[in-house]
Amino acid sequence: MGIATINPATGETIQTFQGLGDGAIARAIDTAQQSFEQYRRTSLAQRATWLHAAANLLVEEKDIFAKTMTVEMGKPITAAVVEVEKCAAVCRYYADHAEQFLAPVTIETDASHSYVMYQPLGVILAVMPWNFPFWQVFRFAAPALMAGNVGLLKHASNVPQSALAIADIFQRAGFPEGAFETLLVGADKVAQIIADPRVKAATLTGSESAGASLAAAAGTQIKKTVLELGGSDPFIVLESADLETAVATAVTARMLNNGQSCIAAKRFIVQESIADAFTQKLVEKYAALKIGDPLLPEVHIGPLATPAILQEVHQQVQSCLAAGGKVLIGGDPDAVPTRADPALSRGNFYPPTIVANLPHDAAIAREEIFGPVATLFRVADLDAAIALANDTTFGLGSSAWTQIPAERDRLVAEIEAGSVFINGMVKSDPRLPFGGIKRSGYGRELGSQGILEFVNVKTVWVK
Ligand code: NAP
Repeated sequence: MGIATINPATGETIQTFQGLGDGAIARAIDTAQQSFEQYRRTSLAQRATWLHAAANLLVEEKDIFAKTMTVEMGKPITAAVVEVEKCAAVCRYYADHAEQFLAPVTIETDASHSYVMYQPLGVILAVMPWNFPFWQVFRFAAPALMAGNVGLLKHASNVPQSALAIADIFQRAGFPEGAFETLLVGADKVAQIIADPRVKAATLTGSESAGASLAAAAGTQIKKTVLELGGSDPFIVLESADLETAVATAVTARMLNNGQSCIAAKRFIVQESIADAFTQKLVEKYAALKIGDPLLPEVHIGPLATPAILQEVHQQVQSCLAAGGKVLIGGDPDAVPTRADPALSRGNFYPPTIVANLPHDAAIAREEIFGPVATLFRVADLDAAIALANDTTFGLGSSAWTQIPAERDRLVAEIEAGSVFINGMVKSDPRLPFGGIKRSGYGRELGSQGILEFVNVKTVWVK
């Protein structure tokens, strides 16, 4: 696949782009490096002013940016607007807090004065996915720019207009030329960009295979990486849970972004005593979801981002059936009502689907399904719930529902994941660190931790 905007709701190719050649890539890296030499000397106050200006542009033009995203990757337009607003919020958060996070820290030693200071590393490469085309980039860029680094964005090949719009925002906000650039390149150029000595580190959000490949390339160059990879987050509902709220949240947590979120709840683990009631309510709510043109505000579920994802999700549901699973609702892309609409008949629509009865040890039960498909498991008690939740190679987020403090404390302590949300759905928040363990990756974004990933933690000792 080349670099192109192809509307996933209609199949229409809107615009294609020529990827940059080696000469243009080298020039862009050069511009970034030259920019860094100046930019690193700018004050935090100046950077904050530019970042607030970027936030203002995002808010003023949110409807335009939201439409760009929806047309490129199919997320419902209302969610796209919220995403742009969240980007403005992360810009303001780091503009207002970076000085505090980056302040030198005095440490008493045998020196007359010893302290730790934080300095920028230089040009940072960001390899980003299409599922949150603005948010993924801004949550990297805001802290990186405040810390004095400059950014090079290699965005997913199906969201080039989002990628160009983001670089344009930073430029119009007043950041110097080269402080944040978009490189329209395919994945095949990533290793050579990392190998360039002027590029000092890289972050990748995406699949395990892309993360492993980037980390390997960076490893041979002894360069730091942050990896935000896949997840198969558990959503545990125990007997004491507030069932109505848990079910309503379960729908949002699985369906957000047409089911294509790394922190979507993917495996629903429900205590046997309430499993029938939970299942019945969940099926009812799935049946009520409106699937269709994501540009319409009343639509809950748009198309999957590409035909390949549609095919993969369908194959995974077929694997669930082959392993003994039972489809309670959905499961048939040909039965989606959009098939009958001439304008949408070529869209990548997949129906909201629930699969039950899957053997806990089936291979497919441990895979990430990147679409609107929930797998439902029954467990006898808390011990079984925790064991099943942890029986995955991933460790990104987790959500658990209980009113019993002792159960809550065990879930918090024993779930193997980068986050545990009790009686709420997993979400990213500029104030809280975000990231995973196991094959979900390493490093953290957001919070005070996120801004310290791409800095030199310099020890200073003076006598
Ligand atoms: P993907 O194929 O890995 O693509 C992500 C980015 O990596 C794109 O820019 C892609 O470029 C690039 N890429 C692909 N292969 C590469 C390689 N071998 N070397 C270097 N770069 C490469 O991911 P996806 O399937 O589109 O996205 C879905 C995955 O991302 C899911 O697993 C999801 O859970 C994960 N995700 C994780 C987080 C998180 O924060 N943990 C957030 C969102 C998504 P091209 O588009 O040019 O191929």
